[in-house]
Amino acid sequence: MNVSKLMVVGAGQMGSGIAQVAAQAGLKVLLHDTQREFAERGLGTISKNLARSVEKQKISADDKELILSRISLSTDLADAKEVDFVIEAVTENMAIKTEIFRQLDEICPPHAVLASNTSSLPITEIAAVTRRPEKVIGMHFMNPVPVMKLVEVIRGLQTADEVYLLVEALAKQMGKVPVSVNDFPGFVSNRVLMPMINEAIYCVYEGVASPEAIDEVMKLGMNHPMGPLTLADFIGLDTCLYIMEVLYEGFGDSKYRPCPLLRKYVKAGWLGKKSGRGFYVYE
Ligand code: NAD
Repeated sequence: MNVSKLMVVGAGQMGSGIAQVAAQAGLKVLLHDTQREFAERGLGTISKNLARSVEKQKISADDKELILSRISLSTDLADAKEVDFVIEAVTENMAIKTEIFRQLDEICPPHAVLASNTSSLPITEIAAVTRRPEKVIGMHFMNPVPVMKLVEVIRGLQTADEVYLLVEALAKQMGKVPVSVNDFPGFVSNRVLMPMINEAIYCVYEGVASPEAIDEVMKLGMNHPMGPLTLADFIGLDTCLYIMEVLYEGFGDSKYRPCPLLRKYVKAGWLGKKSGRGFYVYE
C-alpha cells in the first residue's frame, strides 16, 4: 500500500511536528483537533518552524509555501474517511485514546493503518477496541519532531508484519530512523528516561539541590545536552506524570511511583514550557 493521505489527530506539540515532517515528506496531511483554534495554533507552529528554516536557508520560501499547501485543518473526525493512515497524538490518556481509535475504526477505509504516538500506553490494549488490531501500531516520535531522528516502532500482539514494514518505510520517508521495540509499558525510551526524571524531581522534593543545580550536575557530569528538569518542562509535566502512572500501574513496582511534587505541579497547572511555568518560568 502507498500512503498518500494522512491524518494527524491532536495538533499539540507532537501532532503539529508530525504533520510538518509528513508534509515535508510530500504527503497530504489533515491536521485534526477538537477546536478550530487548536488546529490553527498547530499550523501556526509549523509555519513558524518553516520560516526559521527559510531564514537558515535550509529550504526556499517556495518550499515553505508548498509544504504548507499540503496541510489542511479538520475539526471533524469523519474527515478520516478518505485517509490511508492516521497518527494519533492526543493527550496521554487511555480513555481518550481508545475512544478515538473506536471512532476511527468506524470511519476509516478498511485498508487504513491506525498508529498511536503514545509515549507509554499499551498498543495491544488500544488495538483491542478496533476490528483491525493487525493494522494498529505504535509510532513514537521524539520531541521536537522536526529535529529528533528516532521513531520507536511498537508492534502490538496482533500487528501484521506488512504493517510494521509500511511504518518503517514511512518513518524513513519522513527522514527518521525507525527502531523496533516490543509492547511493554514505557517501551524503551520512557522506561529508561522517566524514572531518571522522576528521581530528579525527588531530589528537588527532598531538598537535595535546586533544579538549576540538578540540571547542571547532569549536563556537566553526565554529558546530557539538557538537564532532566529542563527536559521534563519541555516534555510537559502532565505527560511525565501520565507516563510514570503507566509504568507504576503496568509493572506494579513501587520504584515507579510518581513523585508527590510532580503531582502537585500538575494539579496547580504548572505543566512546564507549554503553560509558562514548571520547574522554571518561561516568558
Ligand atoms: P499536547 O498537550 O501538546 O497536545 C495534545 C493535543 O491533543 C491538544 O491540542 C488537544 O486539544 C488535543 N486533543 C485532546 N483530546 C482530543 C480529542 N479527543 N480529539 C482530538 N484532539 C484532542 O500534548 P503532546 O505533548 O503533543 O503529546 C501528545 C501525545 O504525544 C501524547 O500521547 C504524548 O504522550 C505523546 N508524546 C509526547 C512527547 C513530548 O515530549 N511531549 C514525546 C513523545 C510522545
